[in-house]
Amino acid sequence: MLRLQQRWNAPDVRLLLRPCLGRALRHACPQCGRGRLFERWARLRERCEHCGLVYRREDGAELGSMYLGATVSQSFAALVCFALYFLTDWSQGLSLAVGVPVVVAFCYASLPLSMALWTAVDYLTDVSNREWWARPR
Ligand SMILES: [Zn+2]
Repeated sequence: MLRLQQRWNAPDVRLLLRPCLGRALRHACPQCGRGRLFERWARLRERCEHCGLVYRREDGAELGSMYLGATVSQSFAALVCFALYFLTDWSQGLSLAVGVPVVVAFCYASLPLSMALWTAVDYLTDVSNREWWARPR
């Protein structure tokens, strides 16, 4: 009963997509847009220092960002393979010597973005489910 009383009228999540996406791209809190998401490289803070939104609520909450990052990285790796195969006449050794570091660098560079995007998706899901801790601002 108490849980039902804590629920609230959620806004249309579609209206929150653009601001939450922008905040994720800036590595800012999806709820208030003021707090920073990361303590350091790819290390998510426990909660927002401005609005108190908890970013890491449970073990395994970052699993979605891992899937998102893996999907984007594998797509990028496929793109690099096709580009090296069709646009160059390089040997396999040279293609691997160039392609592997490019893909690894991309994976490393895109990790915080996938974590930020997943945090925004997690937040939007909470807003959609009218969870009491998610209050759009
Ligand atoms: Zn915040």
